[in-house]
Amino acid sequence: ALTFENVVKKFGDLTVLNDLNFQVERGQRVTLIGPSGSGKTTILRLVMTLESLTDGYIHVDGVPLTHLERNGRRVARRHKEVAQLTRRIGMVFQQFNLFPNMTVIENIIEAPVHVLGKSRDEARNRGMELLDQVGLGDKADQHPSRLSGGQQQRVAIARALAMDPEILLLDEVTSALDPELVGDVLQVLRDLAETTDITMLIVTHEMQFAQDVSDRVLMFDSGHIIEDAKPDAMFSNPTHERTKEFLRAIL
Ligand code: ATP
Repeated sequence: ALTFENVVKKFGDLTVLNDLNFQVERGQRVTLIGPSGSGKTTILRLVMTLESLTDGYIHVDGVPLTHLERNGRRVARRHKEVAQLTRRIGMVFQQFNLFPNMTVIENIIEAPVHVLGKSRDEARNRGMELLDQVGLGDKADQHPSRLSGGQQQRVAIARALAMDPEILLLDEVTSALDPELVGDVLQVLRDLAETTDITMLIVTHEMQFAQDVSDRVLMFDSGHIIEDAKPDAMFSNPTHERTKEFLRAIL
């Protein structure tokens, strides 16, 4: 399980997460919704250890992702155990973040070769399988700039999967795409949700997608979870006034 315990995150004077507690069970698909600035992206970045914690703990199966330094700052990857853990967490970003100077297949095998120590051949074989899975088997030797945004995002998904993640973090992965390219990316993720048991934390504005793939939806406001429900209940019968307002505004 992925556990947030009394998590506080501040940026200077701004408190983004304020004593946040929740737990995501292994294999669960959880969508985070809430107004802009409510801290959804920050939560994913904390799990990816791209941000330090101000206070509290984040555990994966009981292993803390971060450690408290003497000066009170928490830093990640202090111990081998944590490094082992973080390599099983993958993230896909709104802006794809592919390496522009590498081909598609090089993007995909980079971490398996350099972090997991796989042979190039093994990594390439698995990479080609993953490219086929996202419908881009013929693009392996292209550079990302030659691909559409939707194709680049599918490469980014394949790259994350190449690390065989237990937890996949999806941060508004379709928000930067032209509308006609969104469907293919969501279809890849729907297939993934159906055919694997990867734990997923999803930030998205695609509410139909959220409803279809999530086991659970968390509604955030001002650094707190104000509603935690199954998607059907959240979308058709929200209890909190703020949730109703939010959903009215976006649906
Ligand atoms: P959105 O839906 O707009 O992406 P969000 O819920 O994902 O919003 P976050 O991106 O997590 O919100 O940001 C939460 C708050 O933290 C915002 O007010 C944002 O401006 C602030 N913030 C995020 N990162 C930083 C940073 N590196 N330095 C300062 N403030 C930051």
